[in-house]
Amino acid sequence: MRILVAEDEARLNELIVKRLRLEHYSVDACLNGLDALDYLACAEYDAIILDIMLPGADGFQVLRTLRGRQDRTPVLFLTARDGIDDRVAGLDAGADDYLVKPFSFEELLARLRALIRRQSAQVSNVITVADLVIDCDARTVSRGGRSVSLSSKEFSVLEYLARNSGRVLSRDKIGLHVWNYDYEGGSNVVDVYIRCLRRKLDDGFSPKLIHTVRGAGYVLRSEP
Ligand code: CA
Repeated sequence: MRILVAEDEARLNELIVKRLRLEHYSVDACLNGLDALDYLACAEYDAIILDIMLPGADGFQVLRTLRGRQDRTPVLFLTARDGIDDRVAGLDAGADDYLVKPFSFEELLARLRALIRRQSAQVSNVITVADLVIDCDARTVSRGGRSVSLSSKEFSVLEYLARNSGRVLSRDKIGLHVWNYDYEGGSNVVDVYIRCLRRKLDDGFSPKLIHTVRGAGYVLRSEP
């Protein structure tokens, strides 16, 4: 899961980023609205945490630009306590939810999970493909009823494939999503992780679920 955080209070920004990374989200962060627009032009996110009062371009402008491009990425607005008008305007402008400062991180995380869930039209954060079951909240995986232990990065790659099951994802797309800007295009790190996932999830099972689409990338699906 890849999240963009746009918040100009440096300390708060840092705390949010730290907490999200602990929860295994891959996070980009910026301190003003113009940078947020740059990030949004270059990458796809699963959700955006967007402060309303931002220098450069405020939260409303960022949101309008995004929705103007028919981009439905869920947006969680952060608003000041007295900004009731802001909240109404924010929801009218197409924000999906808002959180009033100061907020608890537990609430932030819960709302973020709910937004992402709603976006992928899943009633729960458990994804099933054939007999593969992925619990995205508990970060556990089983195949054929047997639990499989994955590293944190393996899980992130699998979760991304699973949330897009049936859709072919390029190496670069997977790499950028999971490794963020640490990802170097053209490296074979994604292939290495796919190989590990296959060994753990497909070897000895039928049908195979992780497929290579030559020249295009990888896809998780139950049909060959
Ligand atoms: Ca602010």
